[in-house]
Amino acid sequence: MLIFIIQLIVHQFITCVTPLPPIIRIGGLFGANDTEQELAFHLAIDRINSDRNILQSSTLVPEIQRITDGDSFHTNKKVCSLLANGAIALFGPLGGQTALHVQSICDALEIPHIECHSNSRDMMSDHISINLYPKPSSLSRAYVDLVKAWGWKVFAIVYEDNHGIVRIQDFLKEAQQYDWTIKLYQFSDRPYRDIFWEIKMTKVFHVIIDVNRLNIFTVLKHAQQVGMMTEFQSYLITSLDLQTINLEDFKFAKTKITSFRLVDSTNPELYSLMTDWTQLASKRGLNNASKPTNLLTESALLYDSVKLLATALQDLDQSQSITMPSISCQSDNQWQFGTSLMNYMRPITFRGLTGLVDFDQFGHRSSFTLDVMTISDDGLQKIGYWSGSQTLQPLNISDEWRDNFSYMSLANQTLIVTTIINPPYCMLRESSKTKYGNDRFEGYIVDLIDELSKLLGFKYKFKTVDDNKYGAKNETGFWNGLIGEVLNGKADIAVVDLTITSKRAEAVDFTLPFMNTGISILFKKPTTKVTTLFSFLSPFSNIVWVYVLAAYVGVSSVLFIVGRLSPYEWDNPHPCRNEDFVLENNFSLTNSFFFTIGSLMQQGSDLTPKAMSTRAIAAIWYFFTLIMISSYTANLAAFLTVEKVISPIESAADLASQSSIEYGCLASGSTRAFFQESNISTFKKMWEFMKNRDVFVDSNDIGKQRVEKGNYAYLMESASIEYSVERDCNLTQVGGLLDTKGYGIATRKNSKYRGLLSQSILKLQETGRLLMLKEKWWKQKKGGGKCTDDNKKSSSVTALKIDNVGGVFVVLLGGLSLAFFVAICEFMWRSRKSTAGCETMCEEMINDLKFSFACQSKSKPGKRKSYEDNVNNSSYNTLSQPQVIRGQFTNKLDY
Ligand code: ASP
Repeated sequence: MLIFIIQLIVHQFITCVTPLPPIIRIGGLFGANDTEQELAFHLAIDRINSDRNILQSSTLVPEIQRITDGDSFHTNKKVCSLLANGAIALFGPLGGQTALHVQSICDALEIPHIECHSNSRDMMSDHISINLYPKPSSLSRAYVDLVKAWGWKVFAIVYEDNHGIVRIQDFLKEAQQYDWTIKLYQFSDRPYRDIFWEIKMTKVFHVIIDVNRLNIFTVLKHAQQVGMMTEFQSYLITSLDLQTINLEDFKFAKTKITSFRLVDSTNPELYSLMTDWTQLASKRGLNNASKPTNLLTESALLYDSVKLLATALQDLDQSQSITMPSISCQSDNQWQFGTSLMNYMRPITFRGLTGLVDFDQFGHRSSFTLDVMTISDDGLQKIGYWSGSQTLQPLNISDEWRDNFSYMSLANQTLIVTTIINPPYCMLRESSKTKYGNDRFEGYIVDLIDELSKLLGFKYKFKTVDDNKYGAKNETGFWNGLIGEVLNGKADIAVVDLTITSKRAEAVDFTLPFMNTGISILFKKPTTKVTTLFSFLSPFSNIVWVYVLAAYVGVSSVLFIVGRLSPYEWDNPHPCRNEDFVLENNFSLTNSFFFTIGSLMQQGSDLTPKAMSTRAIAAIWYFFTLIMISSYTANLAAFLTVEKVISPIESAADLASQSSIEYGCLASGSTRAFFQESNISTFKKMWEFMKNRDVFVDSNDIGKQRVEKGNYAYLMESASIEYSVERDCNLTQVGGLLDTKGYGIATRKNSKYRGLLSQSILKLQETGRLLMLKEKWWKQKKGGGKCTDDNKKSSSVTALKIDNVGGVFVVLLGGLSLAFFVAICEFMWRSRKSTAGCETMCEEMINDLKFSFACQSKSKPGKRKSYEDNVNNSSYNTLSQPQVIRGQFTNKLDY
């Protein structure tokens, strides 16, 4: 026990007083090409030794070993010799398989291993290792943020080796959350330009390049050789060392080349290093010392890592006494302070050449910042930064550059606009003076492009398409016409009455449509007049005629019934013949029908209603006839004045079912493609007809001329038909639209113009500008409005339907109901007045009713009344044995 206490006291004493050894050896493992990194390593050690801010009483001594990647045997020997010499930490190697090997030796012997290169391994907390290079998953987040900011949707990723695919694995994982189309390419043993050619053929314009720093220049050069280094391409280089590449050859092409930089260009230490750097470089025979801002990331990381080790050593020294024995690979003895030194390194935070240096528990850099670099006319330029810190907004890019990259700006760019001469979209300006440039053209799309250029600030140059075609894919898979010119770069956009079709949309991008249309038939106006035997029936539709007939029958019947019911329609024809007891009623069935037809025909009759109820019927019927006859007369006059002509065809189906009238369409365009690809039997039949007779024309003008000659129908888009029939009064549109589609502006695939142009088209639509332009070029300019009167005249007169005259029938019904009601009142009034003797009111009414509707001679049981009584009561209805005698016009009752 005493011995143990003495040992403890001695140990404590040694711990307190034993300083760090005066010489501290640290090992560096470098490849043959790592001269700059090695220089940075030496420089860092020299700085620490000379500044004496850290490790005042010790001197760091670098022990360098050159290794070859893949040579594990010699690497092993060299690492062991470094450790045998007393190296307490190992730096490097900078990548390759041997790095793994070195790490396992360091893990076994508990020697701190400090790495400064990109590796795809995940650091474990039990490794005696730390890596100052940001881990791949953090970098992937930065790439994803940048791709999002640039608005890429379809892009390619090209990588070189298997490390590359492992590195971008994290990126692909992150990318899964977004609706991105990513095409992967590996350079492998083929020249880079082959891959770029493939990418070019697939019309992908954005590429992420993951290659070794040393190959970046060649890769970009190959891209340039196959025409993939234009203003339309954008590249994201994953290497953090783009600043070390000579980009002179690429900076004027307006290609967007972006990358990240870890080296902190704002750190004053970077600039103060330069004198030492140059001196040391010349001392070591290295003349090509870089500018501080061109420092390799690995060099800067090595510099920072030496500083990190020195700080940790000093901290460790302050807490315990460190011994630095030589370690043998053969023995199982580990360095007892290795893990402690590593644990002291992890919490250290300082500002180094690579920005803020700090670590998470696994020894990964946690809150580093990357500069966003892009190439401009002035060379590589910082345009923003990305921060790995959780608290800040990750990506910050200056507005000007964000707009430029995220396709928010077309300002000051000059677009080549290809078009076709086709009125009214684009026409050659008529002038006595020779016109040049855009002045040569006028028309709807010339105005449209002008409006768009004002909104977006671009300039434009019009050109006419070389082959005068809209664009179709030929057998070899190449596009001709406007689409071809956009694809092969002769023009940036194509604008005219260019229809948006699915096939074309596979090759180019279309903006939102600026005009809607559909295929219809242009035909010569027919002149053969229509003559029909029963044209006098035309003013009313059939249903109205049926209603009129029903009204006639109905009113006549009601008149008959009411006439019978009303006591005031029964009269004694011979009031002076007292012995005769005869009552007469004018409104027999035939008389009622005659009365109504007489008034309907505006002729009248000798029959006159006497009761209030029958007069009401007559009045409402007169009103009805007045309205109906006036409507009929007015509409008949219109029918007789409007000439109705017969058109031999009324629709596409009519065209398809005959062969005497020829028909055709434009030789190369969407109309032809519509018939060619249609599955509808009528259109298929029409396509067969057109194909066999070869009735295609080269321009709409030729089509129109053929139509004018007669016996030819031209299938054309309705917007153009509208324009033609407005000016050429011999032409007309036949039938409706066979389909619906729109005209759009074609741009190259994934072009930045598309979104902006679409947005502006919407704006023009919302402000009514597009409508005004259409009005101007269709109705006002170039003889517009010439055939408007003709068109109005020829608008056909239509028969009156029940909707037009239904109200009169309703009034008639109302009138009849009123008359019926009045008749019942009259009937009851009289019945009440004539009630006598033992007959009740009800019995009296029943008797009266029976009498009213008795159609033949019959006896009425009951008491007989004197004629005087009857005459006094003016009653016809209390007679016994009534005898109905039917005269031609009257019913006579004889007693
Ligand atoms: N506007 C059509 C096109 O883009 C021409 C046509 O076929 O009528 O092809």
